[in-house]
Amino acid sequence: MSEAIKLFQYNTLSALMAGLYGGTLTIGELLEHGDLGLGTLDSIDGELIVLDGKAYQAKGSNGRVEVVEVSEDVKVPYAAVVPHKAEVIFKQRFEMSDEELEKRIESYYDGVNLFRSIKITGRFSHMHVRMIPKSTSDRKFAEVATHQPEYTKDNVSGTIVGIWTPEMFHGVSVAGYHLHFISTDYTFGGHVMDFVISEGIIEVGAVDQLDQRFPVQDRKYLFAKFNVDELKDDIDKSE
Ligand SMILES: [Zn+2]
Repeated sequence: MSEAIKLFQYNTLSALMAGLYGGTLTIGELLEHGDLGLGTLDSIDGELIVLDGKAYQAKGSNGRVEVVEVSEDVKVPYAAVVPHKAEVIFKQRFEMSDEELEKRIESYYDGVNLFRSIKITGRFSHMHVRMIPKSTSDRKFAEVATHQPEYTKDNVSGTIVGIWTPEMFHGVSVAGYHLHFISTDYTFGGHVMDFVISEGIIEVGAVDQLDQRFPVQDRKYLFAKFNVDELKDDIDKSE
């Protein structure tokens, strides 16, 4: 049997929602566990995109999108990566909305109780992203999330990377699709809101195990008091 594919999940979305924005894991360490994934950066400064083993940050500054490669010593408060291995590969030959494409992707799932890695490389007639703006931990995520800059671009080539999470793991991560985009020329990207694909290659990867890590030396996390009902509510509102 081939080696089990582990989804490496650093911290939980709930902890992020509770305002624990300080980075506690380096990008260098994160990349040891996977070559595809997403997350956010220290002080929730924009969106993290991990593609082909490299980490990029997409952020909005002065009404413009900026994408930069992130160095290994930068720290993240929340991220998920996987050694992506396509189990299903198909070609999308005609224009489709994100909802339609997601249904097509799901038609290849064996049930709905396993995580999946997603990689979509192609041309997009429309791409709509948002970027979480840098914040201090005294502001709740749900509050910060109501002021997220959004950007759109038409006729852009690039790659969508992400994770599909089963409903029962909502809170660890966002149930359903969590996707980030980066353009081929590294000038545009962010957290995917919606899109229209013109054509592309879709890869769906299996996930056999979940490796849930915790910031075990972070006093803020250790002694935080989480209001779980409120957190679930906040996730629904902001993601
Ligand atoms: Zn995101």
